[in-house]
Amino acid sequence: MRINALTIAGTDPSGGAGIQADLKTFSALGVYGTTVMTALVAQNTCGVNSVYPVDPDFIAAQMDAVLTDVRIDSSKIGMLSNAAVIEVVADKLRQYALPCVVLDTVMLAKSGDPLLNADAVDSLMSVLLPHVSIITPNLPEAAALLKTAPATNEKMMQEQGEALLAAGAKAVLLKGGHLDSTESPDWLFLPEGRCRFISPRIATKNSHGTGCTLSAALAALRPQCADWYDTVAAAKQYLHGALAAADSLDVGRGQGPVHHFYQWW
Ligand code: PLP
Repeated sequence: MRINALTIAGTDPSGGAGIQADLKTFSALGVYGTTVMTALVAQNTCGVNSVYPVDPDFIAAQMDAVLTDVRIDSSKIGMLSNAAVIEVVADKLRQYALPCVVLDTVMLAKSGDPLLNADAVDSLMSVLLPHVSIITPNLPEAAALLKTAPATNEKMMQEQGEALLAAGAKAVLLKGGHLDSTESPDWLFLPEGRCRFISPRIATKNSHGTGCTLSAALAALRPQCADWYDTVAAAKQYLHGALAAADSLDVGRGQGPVHHFYQWW
């Protein structure tokens, strides 16, 4: 049976991040994609120019339109902008009892521009966490969620991953890309155990939308895999290929996108 996935996220008119990256990822991984827009973002490979948050009532209307019509097997949540958006998304996740929800705890773009109001970080933990299956923070995001300093080594990563589980996360993929090391270790924490995933760093400036792409790949692949371990391994393999091929795209003047269709063209 064909898998239908939903992305609830912001937009990137230059096509490399947000909803555009999610739809490309779903398509590359053989999944039918549906979308709910939380924010219109005037951005490109050089940075974010402005953000136009969608009215929470209209986000609810988009979710009702999709969810009263299409069977959704998995979802990915990206940019949420503010606490009111978090509230309405949590309400709809509860109302429709959505299975397999991946929350990318988006806070800042690589350009440093904010994608979530600072005062909404607590709502991610208190309002949304109970309704999601896995969260995918990078090191600064994990630190913000836990109100502590970012991990600078893998021992601290393990402590913070366990702390996020203790705070109510059902699963945590803590991304170690910000560590000052030649490797880029990611750690998966589940109540039944933990697992280290390692990938070599790829020397490219073209990494716009990598977090969006990884979380969308997790949502696309979870229904096709036996468990989260297999899902993370497969999603990381896809992202690795897309990043390794990024320079062949050469889109934009800044940090360009990864090549979502590297297996095809
Ligand atoms: N734009 C949107 C709408 C996003 O949701 C995100 C991240 O989730 C980004 C941009 C970030 O892209 P970058 O990888 O350049 O930080």
